[in-house]
Amino acid sequence: MNIAIIGSGLTGSLAAISLAKAGCRVDLYERLTDDELINRDRTYAITHSSRKILEKNGLWKQFESHLVPFQYLNIIDYELNKKFQFLINDLSISDKKYLAVGWIAEHKNVMLTILKSISTIENINRIPTSIIPNTSNYDLVVVADGSNSNTKKKLKTPSLCFSYDQMCITVKVLLRGVKSNEAFEILNSEGPFAVLPLGGDLFQIICSQSIEKGKYNMSKSKSLFLDYLSSILPYGIDLDTIVDEPKSFPINFVFNYLFFSGKYIYLGETAHKFHPVGGQGLNLCWRDVDCLEKLISNKFLKNNHSFIPITYSLSRIFDVLSISIFTDSLVRYSRSNSYIFSLPRKFVFFLLKRCPIFRKFIINAMTNGF
Ligand SMILES: Cc1cc2nc3c(=O)[nH]c(=O)nc-3n(C[C@H](O)[C@H](O)[C@H](O)COP(=O)(O)OP(=O)(O)OC[C@H]3O[C@@H](n4cnc5c(N)ncnc54)[C@H](O)[C@@H]3O)c2cc1C
Repeated sequence: MNIAIIGSGLTGSLAAISLAKAGCRVDLYERLTDDELINRDRTYAITHSSRKILEKNGLWKQFESHLVPFQYLNIIDYELNKKFQFLINDLSISDKKYLAVGWIAEHKNVMLTILKSISTIENINRIPTSIIPNTSNYDLVVVADGSNSNTKKKLKTPSLCFSYDQMCITVKVLLRGVKSNEAFEILNSEGPFAVLPLGGDLFQIICSQSIEKGKYNMSKSKSLFLDYLSSILPYGIDLDTIVDEPKSFPINFVFNYLFFSGKYIYLGETAHKFHPVGGQGLNLCWRDVDCLEKLISNKFLKNNHSFIPITYSLSRIFDVLSISIFTDSLVRYSRSNSYIFSLPRKFVFFLLKRCPIFRKFIINAMTNGF
């Protein structure tokens, strides 16, 4: 099959590798240079679903040396003043042997590893442009040009979009009083935030808060910003230094529920973008890639490729919809500080602590999808 992929971000690039390995001839279109693709300051939580996809594509060994594993995932609810820990033992038997609840990766290393792999695969042709000259040459066009996709706009594909009245602030810090193998997901009434290990004392803070408060905090001097961060960290964790410049970005929700238009198939952030809470973003994008690869490897669909878009759409809807509802509920749960919600919140924590089946269901849904 001849396939065009628009966009060489982490979704488009992994799709190129995966589909080329499945025997397709791939033209990969990207408007940015490699330096621009690599030098993005983002940190990802990698789950077991991504680990399996990377293993399948022969990339896991190259990735592993750049990843920081964590063995403890702490969930803290500030409103209830309660803490709970997911452990390796909560994972399924096949995931347990990797001795990590998940891994943290920096964008630079992930992108570099993927681009290196692409350069060794013969049937991927990288084309540095934003315009495909003739789409009739292709059996399928994979659209992976991000959440502001121009292709999607041109094709007038309907999607459900809204902006949260929140922004996300990310910053690297040195911390004391925390182990280098633990991650935190903190439910705070301002908005959920995560503390992710980057090796040794270095951690990434990703916090969401109201746009008004976020702008105010971003305008603070470094020392006042450090004081602010210290005030929101869990008791017992001390902040030593801010290592880089804090960055902020708006948070919106995009759900392209059709997943395709004719022979154009939407993957990654072109199809869905959620609140960063729960670290599901990249993992969900890569599950799209895996699903498409499985369909293209199917003998019947390979010979009848006009059925691939609709089959892809039906195969992805449940996982994407479930994760979108799950992350959105987590945001609303975190911000619901009214006493009416206190009882259900206590009940959820009770179930997490006392009911191993519930705990395993939640961690397996977070790590392997639905
Ligand atoms: C500011 C920011 C911070 C983020 N932080 C996190 C985080 O901390 N953790 C996390 O898990 N996720 C994070 N995400 C989300 C994460 O980056 C994405 O889930 C992941 O990168 C996969 O994206 P993608 O490849 O689908 O889209 P993108 O990364 O947006 O890639 C789309 C690519 O398409 C290219 N393109 C666009 N139009 C065209 C065209 N017409 N022709 C050719 N190429 C085109 C773009 O140049 C780009 O390279 C963040 C996203 C943003 C925007």
